[in-house]
Amino acid sequence: MRTVERNKIDGRHIPGSLGRPEAVAGGMEDVFLLAPFRSRGLTPYLIGVVGALAATLLRFSFHDNLGAHVSFSFYYLAVFVAAWTGGFWPAAVAAILSANLANYFFTEPYWTLWINSTEEFVDLSFFVTVSLIIGGLSEISLRALSRARAAEREKDNFMAALAHEMRSPLSVINYASALSRMSGGEQPYDQLDIIDRQVHSLNLMIEDLLDVSRVTRGKIRLQRKNIDVAVLVAGAIERSKPSIDGHGHMLKVNLPERAVELFVDPVRMEQVLANLLTNAAKYTPDGGEIIVRGRLVDDTVIISVRDNGIGIEPEMLPRVFDLFVQVEGARERSQGGLGIGLALARKIAEMHGGSLEATSGGLDRGSEFTVTVPVSQPAASRGVLAKV
Ligand code: ADP
Repeated sequence: MRTVERNKIDGRHIPGSLGRPEAVAGGMEDVFLLAPFRSRGLTPYLIGVVGALAATLLRFSFHDNLGAHVSFSFYYLAVFVAAWTGGFWPAAVAAILSANLANYFFTEPYWTLWINSTEEFVDLSFFVTVSLIIGGLSEISLRALSRARAAEREKDNFMAALAHEMRSPLSVINYASALSRMSGGEQPYDQLDIIDRQVHSLNLMIEDLLDVSRVTRGKIRLQRKNIDVAVLVAGAIERSKPSIDGHGHMLKVNLPERAVELFVDPVRMEQVLANLLTNAAKYTPDGGEIIVRGRLVDDTVIISVRDNGIGIEPEMLPRVFDLFVQVEGARERSQGGLGIGLALARKIAEMHGGSLEATSGGLDRGSEFTVTVPVSQPAASRGVLAKV
């Protein structure tokens, strides 16, 4: 693994010039070089067809030595190359074409596709079966590789986003400290405020990253207690208020009139709801509308956050819950986001035995995120639940 320390001069770290992700890439590329690759469009089929024809010409050149014996070695090569470059279907095309060419030209009676002996049938079937297995195995490895490449790309994007997001607060802190040095170490209050705010935003970012690592290692322990849904929602609104007000959105809240208690970790559940509200604020053009709705259906509390913002395309809906995934085009609105919030929020909802789902009418048609949490025993058994 190569590392290029572009962000150091004379061994000193320069804030605001964090290395780009490509500087730390390396290892996987070497693996990809040796791996099969998927050519575009009809190219692998063409490779299979040309390979089968070339194998036939080669077989012709050995005809004097081989006679009526069909040697499939050349044809296997054609199938292998088609499988390597295109997976199962190009390999299947190359195999069937090869079997027909071999049968037509090199088995007696020549110049006919007629199969006139069991031995010939067994030979041809064996060749086609092995070729299909080669194609299948190649398809499996091509798919695994394309997943690995996508994960690698996502990691790179994440590194780029992280470097970018850390650069801004670090540059501001750097600038404020340079000003302070110029003023002989006297730090005016507004500069201290700036530094405080930037350090706070760096802290939040690092907390998010630590949360991801805790969640993926299963290290988050819930500290459950009984809490009214209305209190949870109020806490989340309080946390996301600066973002909602900052964008001039109108917030409507529709909750059950009577108390509905949940037995949850209040800090974590508030984090989930605050994340949905902040996202609604970020991904809705200024002056939009956000609606929070809570209800009890059977033994499940359902809380939804709906906005009339930029929406999400259907194919991206399930993906927004993946770690480090940000929708193309929404990235500039993410305001320091790293594509972590929804992955964490869903995980936390699931840890409570609930779920988090998203729906959207498509681009520019708003989104709705719905959290469900089962009402668990302590609250229910004390009879504090009220149907709404
Ligand atoms: P981020 O830090 O990028 O906001 P999240 O995990 O919270 O990370 O969200 C992942 C992605 O899902 C966002 O980058 C955005 O593309 C999309 N997204 C989340 N909430 C909304 C929403 N209310 N409207 C439209 N897109 C959204």
